[in-house]
Amino acid sequence: MDYDVCIVGAGPAGSSAAYWLAKAGHKVVTVEKKSFPRAKTCGDGLTPRATYWLDQMGLLDGLQEFHRYQGLRAFGFGRSLEMAWPDHPQYGNIGYTVTRFDLDQLVANHAQKAGATLVSPYEATSVDILADQVKVEITSKTGDKDTLVARYLLVCEGANSRIGRSLGVSRNRAWPQGMAIRSYWDSPRHDEPWIESHLDICDADGTLLPGYGWIFPLGNGRVNIGVGLLDNKTNTSRLLDAFLQKIAKSWEIDINSPTTPPTGGRLPMGLALGPVCGPNFLVAGDSAGTINPFNGEGIAYAYETGAMAARCLGDALNGGGAASLARYEQELDDTFGRYYKVGRLFVRAIGKPVILKTCVSVGMRSKPIMTQVMKVMANLR
Ligand SMILES: Cc1cc2nc3c(=O)[nH]c(=O)nc-3n(C[C@H](O)[C@H](O)[C@H](O)COP(=O)(O)OP(=O)(O)OC[C@H]3O[C@@H](n4cnc5c(N)ncnc54)[C@H](O)[C@@H]3O)c2cc1C
Repeated sequence: MDYDVCIVGAGPAGSSAAYWLAKAGHKVVTVEKKSFPRAKTCGDGLTPRATYWLDQMGLLDGLQEFHRYQGLRAFGFGRSLEMAWPDHPQYGNIGYTVTRFDLDQLVANHAQKAGATLVSPYEATSVDILADQVKVEITSKTGDKDTLVARYLLVCEGANSRIGRSLGVSRNRAWPQGMAIRSYWDSPRHDEPWIESHLDICDADGTLLPGYGWIFPLGNGRVNIGVGLLDNKTNTSRLLDAFLQKIAKSWEIDINSPTTPPTGGRLPMGLALGPVCGPNFLVAGDSAGTINPFNGEGIAYAYETGAMAARCLGDALNGGGAASLARYEQELDDTFGRYYKVGRLFVRAIGKPVILKTCVSVGMRSKPIMTQVMKVMANLR
């Protein structure tokens, strides 16, 4: 046996799990198909919940060089509201924006400093689950193959999880899935202290859509602009174009010169994927559908489920065996089950334009109501 745990994917879920396992003294290897630093399509927004998990890993100092913001400016039906993050007793009130180019490298390096091994750029191309070990075939960019042998496997491949699918992980298609697209732009307003959300995005016919457009200032001369949607019928590229036309003047961006062209991706949410636990494997982060259905936030939940999986794998290695792995599914459900169930009902409700319009227009008239809504949607109750 080469390793206690082999993790596939060194995004937020994989690197968090690698850090916690290595810190607990376990022999852990992470396989990552890209070379760090690498871009990852994202809005780059860290809520206080994400900041908390980075702090738990000892990375608060590492965040200081990035853009700190104080809360959300919401726009809708001609009104705007600025709402500072509430000072939550556990999570605090600090938010950052950090490109995934910088953020994921920071956490992956930190896991290595704690003792984890990173093998990259190698893709995990197949796994063989045996009674008391897993064999992970890895393939380099040039086609060279090797095999890693570990006691347990943790799948953290993100939204497109090939290994997860090969292990039987599938999405409950009756539950919602989001889509989002983002691009980077130069803007003189790059260091604003608010991230901005527009709650009144419409399709070409003027029908209100369940989702929002965002402008997240990065503090480095650029802003991250995108749209996220909870329906999969609308073309997100066209929607982003329309949104850019709407906000270009106020954010002083040159609509013809993106710093980086748009890229998009899926948002697997609400614990819609499973099973997340097998005889000697677990699944965490987007591969397990852990994105919050209320707001599309996934980084904090990837860190948290990575930490949860690491704890259960650690217990299994310390003698708890399969029962400790099975506890992971229960822990996920205990922690997020009820909240995500309400989130899925919320998504269903706002899929009806009349309900959505009523909610947004009533909310935008009252800062106290909207502040409470923001707390619930960011899971900072
Ligand atoms: C447009 C968009 C905007 C978003 N904005 C935000 C936001 O502002 N804030 C927020 O909190 N969330 C946001 N999200 C969601 C967030 O990006 C994800 O929830 C988060 O990245 C999940 O982390 P993860 O570790 O599960 O997966 P990922 O970050 O996708 O990491 C998976 C890693 O695994 C690697 N990998 C995959 N398969 C293999 C394999 N077979 N072998 C080896 N390596 C492999 C990949 O290269 C990648 O590095 C956004 C998503 C999108 C699409």
